[in-house]
This record gives sequence, structure tokens and C-alpha cells, in this order.
Amino acid sequence: MRGGPGFELMFNIHNLLKRKNIRQNFELIFFAPMEEPGARMGKGALPMLNKLFDRYKIEKCFGKKITGFESRSVVFEDESKLDADLILFIPASAGHSVLQSSDLPLTEAGFIQIDNFCQVCGLPDVYAIGDIAAIEGPDWIAKQGHIAELMGRNAAYNIVEIEKGSAKRKGYQEHLNILCVMDTGDGAAFVFRNDKKSFLIPMPIVGHWMKKGWGIYSKLTKVGKFPHLPGM
Ligand SMILES: Cc1cc2nc3c(=O)[nH]c(=O)nc-3n(C[C@H](O)[C@H](O)[C@H](O)COP(=O)(O)OP(=O)(O)OC[C@H]3O[C@@H](n4cnc5c(N)ncnc54)[C@H](O)[C@@H]3O)c2cc1C
Repeated sequence: MRGGPGFELMFNIHNLLKRKNIRQNFELIFFAPMEEPGARMGKGALPMLNKLFDRYKIEKCFGKKITGFESRSVVFEDESKLDADLILFIPASAGHSVLQSSDLPLTEAGFIQIDNFCQVCGLPDVYAIGDIAAIEGPDWIAKQGHIAELMGRNAAYNIVEIEKGSAKRKGYQEHLNILCVMDTGDGAAFVFRNDKKSFLIPMPIVGHWMKKGWGIYSKLTKVGKFPHLPGM
């Protein structure tokens, strides 16, 4: 599963139910196959996540491999089940089903194999960027929106340079990092990790509005209704 988005979704559900004054009618349980979901964000992130789980009274069901889903339960490898009225699952370890019927080179998990320049392995004129591509880097790396955008820009640059007959190329691997504002619905946490440092800064109240603002900025710049601010 994808930890970061999973946390974000769960904390927002908690705060939505709280705002509606019906939180007490629901039991929220976060399930994940790994022992420490969120560990990719760095050591500093885990104590803060645990605090949020305790504060929001969200139960944890960690460290059990998921073998399947039934209409009202999650099934684990020890054959135990977690019953639920609603199950939300964000898979990370399986590529898009449409790729399986393509002739693109795929990893075992079903993502498109690319090189550092986003060129699909063995297919010189084909590029893949973003979540659909198999990203190579440190074991903590997470697929993210800003990485997808960087890969898109690099792929466009590389295509132009190839057409010009130049040897200039831009790779994505040296820019890998985790940079995320994890919205909780009533605040947020700023998470950063690269190969040198990792930290998490709680941002009560203002963080939520920053993330909302980013969403609006991101949408407007993509449709050309607002200019790109330098570096963003
Ligand atoms: C809850 C959540 C929170 C996140 N928070 C952050 C964050 O704070 N920071 C960050 O950097 N990243 C974050 N991410 C990750 C980020 O959203 C993704 O990495 C990014 O969107 C990947 O971009 P993409 O263009 O590769 O894929 P997508 O944005 O998923 O775009 C793929 C598009 O293809 C479309 N599509 C799918 N199938 C078909 C089909 N058969 N035919 C036509 N179209 C199709 C989909 O509808 C979608 O519009 C978050 C993700 C989630 C789920």
C-alpha cells in the first residue's frame, strides 16, 4: 500500500466525521502489511504519526500480509479477517492492469521499465513518466506528484535534444526526494527526505490551508489560468 496518501485519507476521514459530530459512531482501523508504515518518510516521522493515531483514536493493524478482500472484510495470511463496512486500499505494488496486455517491458510488479532519462528500455522513441514507471533509487523512495512532473519535463527536454542530434540529457534519479505536505484535515505535516536528511514539521491549522492552496495553484497553472511561480 501507499503509506503517505493512506495516512492523509484516514486523518481527513477522521476530521470530516468529527466536524459532522458523528465520529463517535465509527471505528477507524488503519491496516498495512508492513510493521512500520510511514518508515519511508524517515525515523522522525514515526513518533509523530503514532501521536496522531493516538490523538485521533485510530486503531492499528500492522505487519500482516493481505491475501485478499471480501465484500465486507480484509483477509490476512494467517487467515484472520478484519470486518468493515467500508474498505479503502491504495495499492502501490502493482502497475496499471492495462499494461499487462501491452508489449511494454515491465517489472515483476507490472511497472514500465525506464532508464534515467525516462526512455522505455528497448524502445528508443517511447517514454514513460510518473506513477506508471518503475522508479529506481534508494529503498525509501516514494512515487510523488513533483517527481512525475520533473520526469515529464525531463522527457520533453530529452526528446528535443535527441531530435537536435545533441548528446545533452536530463535524468530524474539525482533529484529523487520525498517532499510532501500531509494534510490531516485540521492541519498538516511537512515531510522531507533525501539521501542526507529527513525531517517532519507539524503545521497545525495553516498546513491544511497551504495544501488546499497548493491544489488550487496546481490546477490553475496546469490549465494556463495562472502563471508558474519561479521554482514551483
Ligand atoms: C491521497 C493521495 C495524496 C497524495 N499526496 C501527495 C503529495 O502530497 N505530494 C506528492 O508529491 N504526491 C502525492 N501523491 C502522489 C501523486 O498524486 C502521484 O504521484 C501523481 O499524481 C502521479 O502522477 P501521474 O500523472 O503519474 O498519475 P495520475 O495523477 O494518477 O494520472 C493518471 C491519469 O490517468 C487516468 N487514467 C487511468 N486509466 C486510464 C485509462 N485506461 N484511459 C485513460 N486515462 C486513464 C487517470 O484517471 C488519471 O487522471 C498523493 C497521492 C494520493 C493518492
